[in-house]
Amino acid sequence: MTRKPRILVAGAGIGGLTAALALLKRGFDVDVYEQASELKEVGAGVQLSANGNRALYALGIGDELKRLACEASGKEVRLWNTGQTWKLFDLGAVSVARYGYPYFTAYRPDLLDVLAQAVRREKSDAIHLGARCVGLSQDSSGVTLRLERGAATGAALVGADGVHSTVRQALFGTDAPRFTGIIAWRGTIPMSRLPECMQRLVGTNWIGPGAHVVHYPVHGGDRMNFVGAVERSDWQVESWSARGTVAECENDFRGWHEDVQRMIRNIDTPFKWALMGRAPMEQWTVGRVSLLGDACHPALPFLAQGAVMAIEDGYILARALAEYDDVETALNRYENARKERTRRMVLGSAENARRFHNPALADRVGAQAYVDREWSEARVQERYEWLFTYDVTTILV
Ligand SMILES: Cc1cc2nc3c(=O)[nH]c(=O)nc-3n(C[C@H](O)[C@H](O)[C@H](O)COP(=O)(O)OP(=O)(O)OC[C@H]3O[C@@H](n4cnc5c(N)ncnc54)[C@H](O)[C@@H]3O)c2cc1C
Repeated sequence: MTRKPRILVAGAGIGGLTAALALLKRGFDVDVYEQASELKEVGAGVQLSANGNRALYALGIGDELKRLACEASGKEVRLWNTGQTWKLFDLGAVSVARYGYPYFTAYRPDLLDVLAQAVRREKSDAIHLGARCVGLSQDSSGVTLRLERGAATGAALVGADGVHSTVRQALFGTDAPRFTGIIAWRGTIPMSRLPECMQRLVGTNWIGPGAHVVHYPVHGGDRMNFVGAVERSDWQVESWSARGTVAECENDFRGWHEDVQRMIRNIDTPFKWALMGRAPMEQWTVGRVSLLGDACHPALPFLAQGAVMAIEDGYILARALAEYDDVETALNRYENARKERTRRMVLGSAENARRFHNPALADRVGAQAYVDREWSEARVQERYEWLFTYDVTTILV
């Protein structure tokens, strides 16, 4: 049997590890280079809709993740001040019946652990930690990834190194993100600190003029994940690790319903992230080097699809490399298969910022008419059906 070529992956986040797993399962030799000295994710949640879980189940890790995650029974919309509630859609058994796969709300470290263990089961030394990528070069015979200490060579390189991607900068220069005027608060809350009426397996989206809040259970239901987005222009650091204070977060949601206030008061550590906007890229492959996930299509988190798209990318990239012997052809096929979908996701996420923060939500009467229109069954289907029905295992590559 001829051995498949060696593929280098920069970054061991959700996208990089999914790509590595999918490639290893198709017989490629894979090495992943991660700058962090240990594999750890920020203590935050991530929603995984059926389209992402379809890929994770195809890779054989769906049931393992299910044991750690929560399976949301549905999603609801609530009004910022009165708490009035509208059902958005059913998930749980409905997601399985309709799309074939569940909708999970997961704790990011759990997802990363499951992915890393699965990669190591395929190749025990595939993940190299403390290995920061600093540059690259390529010619017709291969690609060299330059690391802070040393270098690695392979047939192809996948830049899965996130929103500040070094690989993207090496190919296309530095990008110029535009601050959206929105910052996102995030944190988790021990579920035991919340009243029983809030301890439900439901994803909730509070909407209000100039801000919104999303919360859902994670880690087997013992923590609530909180994300609060607010229009504010005095903070512009795009980082998973910048801390704020409970008082500052409370101030941003003054006048909001007591359920929101209660969550904020009980957040262990509130982190804040300035949301930057970037236009979809026209191209992200050059020769033997391509990108995936946030490295090529970072989006505002308002469709909850960034990580899921990185998972889809990883799966389809492996399919393309397995299907086409010529690496450059394979990478172009992968990019073509992903461009329109990820572009639509980036634009749809930005649209949701305007939708969730609409001034019409200021008063009860205006809000009712606005929600009836924007969250009608037809409008909701239009926004989500194309995302959830996508099948990574069959789409044409
Ligand atoms: C507040 C918030 C909430 C979100 N909620 C959701 C959600 O519910 N559902 C969803 O699908 N998405 C969500 N997202 C989006 C999601 O988090 C990202 O899209 C996803 O993490 C992208 O994965 P990635 O693997 O491309 O990048 P990352 O997760 O950023 O991973 C990149 C990896 O590369 C490493 N790295 C970086 N530079 C180098 C280098 N030079 N050398 C080596 N390694 C390097 C990093 O250390 C990291 O491990 C949310 C985002 C935010 C900000």
